[in-house]
Amino acid sequence: MTACLAIDVGGTKIAAALVTLKDKEAQVAQRIQIHTPQNPSAEALDDALAQVLQTFQGQFDKVSVASTGIIQNGILTALNPKNLGNLAFFPLEQSIAKHTDKPITLLNDAQAAGCAEFLRQDDVDNFAFITVSTGVGGGIILNRKLFTGTNGVAGHIGHSLADPNGEPCGCGRVGCVEAIAAGRAIARDAAKWENPCEPPEVFNRFRQGNPQAVALVDKSAKAIAHLIADLKINLDIQRIALGGSVGLAEGYLARVEYFLAQMPEIYRPNIVLAHYAQDAGLIGAAWWAENQF
Ligand SMILES: [Zn+2]
Repeated sequence: MTACLAIDVGGTKIAAALVTLKDKEAQVAQRIQIHTPQNPSAEALDDALAQVLQTFQGQFDKVSVASTGIIQNGILTALNPKNLGNLAFFPLEQSIAKHTDKPITLLNDAQAAGCAEFLRQDDVDNFAFITVSTGVGGGIILNRKLFTGTNGVAGHIGHSLADPNGEPCGCGRVGCVEAIAAGRAIARDAAKWENPCEPPEVFNRFRQGNPQAVALVDKSAKAIAHLIADLKINLDIQRIALGGSVGLAEGYLARVEYFLAQMPEIYRPNIVLAHYAQDAGLIGAAWWAENQF
């Protein structure tokens, strides 16, 4: 038996499945999904994880967890731990180890999604995944290995600088890419319009050529184009997969490529749209485990 119990702990849902990897193909079996406890307490998350482990008891030989936030020595934290509320410093690894004696590995969910996307990239060694969704996150693969850094922080590229005079970011810094490009930033700006709307409607208006919506989407796409250029020039990233609800929105990639096209060629990696949707965290977590044990 070589199945990995992959668990994806997000802000609104916890997904789990038995994942097997064979010749770069991922099989996701017995997928379940439960709501992440709202007003979460450490006890509620502990109980939810116990329920997941119970469901798959005896069917796996390792456990890999992709989670929102940063995992440091098995403990859940974040760039700004206050954002996690009661779950700040939750002992994720310990909570799972109570229910299994199999090996456990943990990583950030965007790092995991980056691993999943990398599974499909045979011809590059240095690769990055960028998700532009409510926030902006990422995963960096260097020399065909996920780079997590000493503290698990690597790949938090949404908190690279976009504008030192920009908006405050949830992480505590001012002017991060996330504070300009993310869905939350788009929602913030569109709420101030004379005719306010939510991000999906911003994109409808953008596609209809509404100048205000075009300017707002372009502000996001330009920041992401510069982030991509920075990844290329800092790390010589060969290919980037762009995902997330904003990243995959129709017409968005074309705007990112428009801004990149204005830069010298050395700044322009190959860009593809992310392939995996909801299972990226599960598949990537399993790939990561395979490379750990
Ligand atoms: Zn930030």
